[in-house]
Amino acid sequence: MEDLQALLDDIHTTLSARDDKGKVATYIPELARIDPAHFGIAVIGVDGTEYMAGDAELPFSIQSVSKVFTLTLALGKHGDSLWNRVGREPSGTAFNSIVQLEFEKGRPRNPFINAGAIAVTDLILSGHKPREAIGEIVNFVRFLSGDDTITTDQAVAKSENATGFRNFALAQFMRSFDRLDHPAEHTLGVYFHQCALAMSCRQLAHAGLYLAANGRNPVSGSSVVSRERARRINALMMMCGHYDGSGEFAYRVGLPGKSGVGGGILAVAPGKASIAVWAPGLNDYGNSLLGTAALEILAKRTGWSVFGL
Ligand code: GLU
Repeated sequence: MEDLQALLDDIHTTLSARDDKGKVATYIPELARIDPAHFGIAVIGVDGTEYMAGDAELPFSIQSVSKVFTLTLALGKHGDSLWNRVGREPSGTAFNSIVQLEFEKGRPRNPFINAGAIAVTDLILSGHKPREAIGEIVNFVRFLSGDDTITTDQAVAKSENATGFRNFALAQFMRSFDRLDHPAEHTLGVYFHQCALAMSCRQLAHAGLYLAANGRNPVSGSSVVSRERARRINALMMMCGHYDGSGEFAYRVGLPGKSGVGGGILAVAPGKASIAVWAPGLNDYGNSLLGTAALEILAKRTGWSVFGL
């Protein structure tokens, strides 16, 4: 395999020169202001070695990448009973789609579409006030990444709360089937804060390292989840991590991954590395255009696709 740092530098140079950078999300006003020229990538090997290029240390809004961490946290608290609330099938519909909820009596197809993530957040809220649940999520992400400086961007959380009509519709609809235990304002208050977590590629790659290393963070030495649970979360990321673009991502990249509308993607090369990339311009599915391209090049040149060389 070629030198990883040289490869990241090459990916950064090649992709930064591209004219078509995709379109930044505008439905969350605070995200519409982000410069689409940003590009960062961080790879942390399972031995803890770091490789970075571009804006790898600049925090950005991780948005739906947070759904991986809240799923991990909720599984830790509720175990497999979580699956009574949420399915494990790819949706084939957009991130914020409501259509399947009616057919499936308010049970979302998977924990990574908005409806599913809202149901997972509702479970984390059990026995807590919203403020406490937000604190628990922030602390968990700090623990995962070994970095106590990580916080939520209040302006982004506020911006989503003011304009997240679709998410309110999803939550109310699920509540009508008794699928949520808390008022929509409470559950979404927590959900918007988890999406507003601001992290750099470096912090994000560290946070995802347990998924590349059988459930254990090799840098801190902490056990996060069992080997089996790490494998299963990776499976869900592969099947559902990119909404209705999940098949395309598996075809092109071949790694478990989770995207966010802030332009971040966390990808996992099991047994090899945790990778975070950030390029704010999105493709038609709402996934980072250049981030996907970067991971495609990386997977090809490293031979890391889980489907073979
Ligand atoms: N906070 C965003 C929303 O709920 C997350 C969507 C995403 O990152 O794909 O609309």
